[in-house]
Amino acid sequence: MLQCYDCGKTYPEEKALWQCDCGSYLLYTTPELKLNKEKIQKGPFSLWRYQEVLPVSEEYRVTMGEGLTPLLPVTYEGREVFLKLDFLQPTGSYKDRGTSVLISKLKEWGVNRVAEDSSGNAGASMAAYCARAGIECEIFVPAYTSAGKLVQIQYYGADMVKVPGTREDTTLAAIRRAEEVFYASHNWSPYFIEGTKTLAFECWEQLEWQAPDAVIVPAGNGSLVLGLYKGFTELKEMGYINRLPRIIAVQAANCSPVYRAFHQGLDVVPAVKKQPTLAEGIASAAPVKGAYILEAIRESDGTVVIVQEEEIKRALLELGRLGVFVEPTSATVWAAWRALRQQEEWTAGQKIILELTGSGLKATDKLQELT
Ligand SMILES: [Zn+2]
Repeated sequence: MLQCYDCGKTYPEEKALWQCDCGSYLLYTTPELKLNKEKIQKGPFSLWRYQEVLPVSEEYRVTMGEGLTPLLPVTYEGREVFLKLDFLQPTGSYKDRGTSVLISKLKEWGVNRVAEDSSGNAGASMAAYCARAGIECEIFVPAYTSAGKLVQIQYYGADMVKVPGTREDTTLAAIRRAEEVFYASHNWSPYFIEGTKTLAFECWEQLEWQAPDAVIVPAGNGSLVLGLYKGFTELKEMGYINRLPRIIAVQAANCSPVYRAFHQGLDVVPAVKKQPTLAEGIASAAPVKGAYILEAIRESDGTVVIVQEEEIKRALLELGRLGVFVEPTSATVWAAWRALRQQEEWTAGQKIILELTGSGLKATDKLQELT
């Protein structure tokens, strides 16, 4: 079942939808919460091992082995922390979790042409999974996007639509196009979160069926915050864990609408005017699901932290020296952990996972400038 976050209207899941009639966003309710550990372990070596709580049946599965990324324990300055190498996915970012599930659902619905607006990791992931599914894909990008950023999308064979103006103009153009083709937005679709929730299941399985104490994730439009919240909540409802791990969302100081709203005690996230940041992947001035993001963080007893540009640079270099090459957006979680662990409540012995979202190979031009 799909349900609107704002007005509560429900829709059957057979209907191909990306938003409610009222204009707000929809959430998916898992009809039956059951997960069997043995079944999981006998399942495919991908996120589809959690099939029992995924919203699409096996015959429509569009998969390239996404998920099941390494959870790497590292000791740094005497403290152990777990790095989730989630950039080791088919297109080089965590987005493949959400895209695999979303595109599988579109295949089940019989959708054969989609539009999406993203010049970054989501656009690349969408183009790749559409290629696998045989779905025609139009990717709307701002006209100012550098050619280098579009190469991956082009190789997957998507139609590129360059839109003059701002990033927001690009979104509006894609939404207008939605009158004729399905708007497969990763920021709007409830099914994208059904994919990112598998991150919670994996952390639980990889820690030998235990929940971590906290997970630190970058947050722009919040699909990881919401995925973790949904996944861990389902595990709790099934009785597999006793409490939700704390969700720590990280934003760049130069674009931090969720940080401001959280610490001002608001229930919605007002738009901010953003400044340029290295962490492009989370530079969202007005996240679509702001209210739900705040709810997820508060329910998990989590928090929102910001990091400065200099801290992101330093984190990139420190991760590199640990053998981990990520894009700047991913490095924000290391910078956040560095700051948090100075505080008393983050005592030693806690199991803390840092979610590393995108490969450094995605941003070699930018990273070269920093060395
Ligand atoms: Zn509604």
